[in-house]
Amino acid sequence: MNERNSAGWDHQHSSHSASPTPPIRRVAMISVHTCPLANLGGKDAGGMNVYVRQLSRALASCNIAVDVFTRQRFAGGPRIVGDGSGVRVIHLDAGPTGPLSKEEIYEHLPEFIKHIEEFRRTEGIYYDRLHGHYWLSGLVTAELRRLWQVPSLVMFHTLARVKNAHLPPEVPPESELRANGEQCAIDGNDIVVVANRRERDDLLAHYRVPLGKVVIVPLGVDIELFAPRDRALARQRINLDSEHLIFSVGRIEPLKGFDTLVRATALLLARRHALRQSLQLWIGGGKIDHDDPASGTEMSHLHQIIESLGLANNVRLLGAIPQEQLPDFYAAADCVVVPSHYESFGLVAVEAMATGTPVIASDVGGLGLSVKDGVTGFLVPTGDESALANRIARVLDDSALRQRLGAAAFAEGAHYSWSRVAERIEAVYEKFGSLSRSGSLVSVATPTYATACGCST
Ligand code: UDP
Repeated sequence: MNERNSAGWDHQHSSHSASPTPPIRRVAMISVHTCPLANLGGKDAGGMNVYVRQLSRALASCNIAVDVFTRQRFAGGPRIVGDGSGVRVIHLDAGPTGPLSKEEIYEHLPEFIKHIEEFRRTEGIYYDRLHGHYWLSGLVTAELRRLWQVPSLVMFHTLARVKNAHLPPEVPPESELRANGEQCAIDGNDIVVVANRRERDDLLAHYRVPLGKVVIVPLGVDIELFAPRDRALARQRINLDSEHLIFSVGRIEPLKGFDTLVRATALLLARRHALRQSLQLWIGGGKIDHDDPASGTEMSHLHQIIESLGLANNVRLLGAIPQEQLPDFYAAADCVVVPSHYESFGLVAVEAMATGTPVIASDVGGLGLSVKDGVTGFLVPTGDESALANRIARVLDDSALRQRLGAAAFAEGAHYSWSRVAERIEAVYEKFGSLSRSGSLVSVATPTYATACGCST
């Protein structure tokens, strides 16, 4: 860091300054492994991308300029994408272009950090706060915090040890590299933002983290997009011609539990033959081509289950659906099902609720807090296809119940908005206006970046 920079940072962030914390003007948002502009529904593009995109826009509306730094995935792809709103997405090299595993991206983090610093110097700008998403970016913010002496926040979205505790036995666990990286990111950043108290409790149970470092800020929903709409028109627009629709959507991966939903549908149809003519289960998300191999694997697994249960006429896998079209699917459905083994928050559930559709979800993580059992939908134990089938049957059988649940779901879902999230995050940025004085920084400040990431827990 040159002298001018140091002076700039020191002046702005002196924790002993008698004046109040200066306003936050510019934030470096880090999302190294996935671009907020990526098409949603692929293996690595879901809730976190939505979060980074929407929070950045909402912060920009509060006059905070946001630069989102992400890895360049496409040879010859644009370097800087801005929409004039105050948000720029900056694509920087970190290893070869094309898909890389998380472990490979980890190896290229020092290069990514170097390019961020080069970008900052070339532009001649300073950042007031650092905000990282997922463990890889949490390591980047920890290192930039050390270099720039700027307060930093990290949000993990999911945590390896928590995910491993919920994975079905046949699914390989998340790596120790990731779990250790998460611990280093906790140690090396000032604040860990979580979406709700369950995520906070999970974090405290599985990692070493002082309680004072953890701040709860719920997620938001685009309540202009996800609002009630005419059901008949929605059904026309999505070309639905059966009486009943059960809908679900998400990245196609084992943790999402879509196999449980397919099995629950088989149970339902076995119990109620008449539904074979009038019921459809549609699942959105995933790619059907092969440049996303892991998603392809779960996709073909689901296809096999559908075939083996004789459900080809009743179940459709739709592939990724552009988010602007999702409200039609939610509105057309009798219920939206979120059968995940784990969700730290679960945006799909809240989007569907904001659209006025009852949600039947696994009673796990954030889902167990946002879905009110018997009020906005139903909660069922994870992996329990029989309980799921029973709850779906109740909603299909009783249109008055469905309408009551849908109305309560809308009332609940409409509380979530990105402008509220941005206000809360801005308050966190302001409150934590100086670097933490806890010993936590020391653990990453002294060694080099690579050493810091190699620390064991
Ligand atoms: N999504 C989408 N199209 C798809 C699949 C997902 O637009 O085909 C969006 C969905 O609207 C939601 C997000 O991706 O906003 C998924 O977030 P969620 O929290 O449900 O799951 P995550 O991806 O975080 O595991």
